[in-house]
Amino acid sequence: MSAQIFIMLLNPGIGALLAAAFFLLWLNQRDKTYVLYAAVGYAISATAFFVQDVAFRYIGSPLPMNAERVVSNLGFLLCGCCLCLAVLGRFSLRPPVLFLTAVTTAAMGGLLWYLFIEPSIAGRVFSVSSALGLIAALMAVKLWRVERKHLADRFLFWISAISAVNYLLRPVLILWASGDFGPNETFQSSLYWTTVQFSQPLISIAFALNLMVAIAIDLIGQLQREARTDKLSGLLNRRGFEDAAEALMKARGHSASPPVCLIIADLDHFKQINDTFGHSVGDAVIGLFGRHIASMATGEMIAGRIGGEEFAILLPGHEIQAARLFAESLRACPWDYWSGMLPDNLAASVSIGVSAAWPGADLYGLMNHADEALYDAKKAGRDQVRIYGASVDFPATLARLRR
Ligand code: GH3
Ligand code: MG
Ligand code: MG
Repeated sequence: MSAQIFIMLLNPGIGALLAAAFFLLWLNQRDKTYVLYAAVGYAISATAFFVQDVAFRYIGSPLPMNAERVVSNLGFLLCGCCLCLAVLGRFSLRPPVLFLTAVTTAAMGGLLWYLFIEPSIAGRVFSVSSALGLIAALMAVKLWRVERKHLADRFLFWISAISAVNYLLRPVLILWASGDFGPNETFQSSLYWTTVQFSQPLISIAFALNLMVAIAIDLIGQLQREARTDKLSGLLNRRGFEDAAEALMKARGHSASPPVCLIIADLDHFKQINDTFGHSVGDAVIGLFGRHIASMATGEMIAGRIGGEEFAILLPGHEIQAARLFAESLRACPWDYWSGMLPDNLAASVSIGVSAAWPGADLYGLMNHADEALYDAKKAGRDQVRIYGASVDFPATLARLRR
């Protein structure tokens, strides 16, 4: 056994480790099929390198005319296809099944031709290497077009591009530098194959690491979103609402414009609903009202469930009267529309307080005002909208009406 065996075990070993790592990752997030594609890709790559480098050399060629090369090269091509599906899947891009099938079929046709009909190492090398180059180039082109938010995504693009150049140019350069790829018997120790053995682990590891970092970033983003989302209503939870709303208020600074209003809505007699119909019906009412808010809210509004049956919506760019109209549309929640999902004799309603930001207002000041208005709405009999300070403005309103 020579030191060469360690070099030969490099690619099968790295492939097997990466396959195991991606498989473990996939076990924990089975909805991410693209992670499984990466695991399968690296497992195929490990097998193909093992067949080509170890089985050929140390076990000998049990099939006539080195037919194992068909197996190993099909493996290299399938690995390229799987990694392409993995990377494009991560960006939710459509799998280029037709392209991959055509390229793999053409490469295998070339390989079979140059293996059995017109034996030529150069023909075989170019058939397989160009196909892998085209697959990597397609990945680079697709990644170029998508939004690459993170550094890891940008690295994935660059590794795809470098792989494409490596597969397409390396055979040409080696042929140009050394005249041929050497005889068939010593192909495994040829300059060409040695460059494959050293460049492939680098590409494999760089690719896998970036894909793993990208998966980790996705996962962190998903956890952050979940930590800010209220499952029952589908809106932000209190923490998510306060973070987003505070950021918006801070960005507004001390200026009076643009106008910002805040709505706090509280379901009426909710304890009674729970006591009469059960907690699960209460949950359904919260869920339906959350859906109603989500369907009414426009893109720039920030809506959250800030307490048990209490909701808050921040309305940037809204003057108080526009906010009031919006609050009325929330109050007119179509409970009847959902009658099939709620008991027939359930009469739900909501009380709403509205406040408008003043220059220098902060979120908590605005929330206190909306809370006071909500308290007024409850006191006045519920199922209504009240605006904070409307009574203070009463003389002005009266004067306007008299005009
Ligand atoms: P008001 O009209 O004055 O707002 O009366 P209310 O009964 O709605 O208010 P109160 O604060 O007395 O009761 C709120 C109830 O909401 C008490 C609590 O058990 C219930 N609640 C809080 N969170 C949830 C939840 O997630 N699901 C359900 N089903 N009930 C909840
Ligand atoms: Mg209530
Ligand atoms: Mg309440």
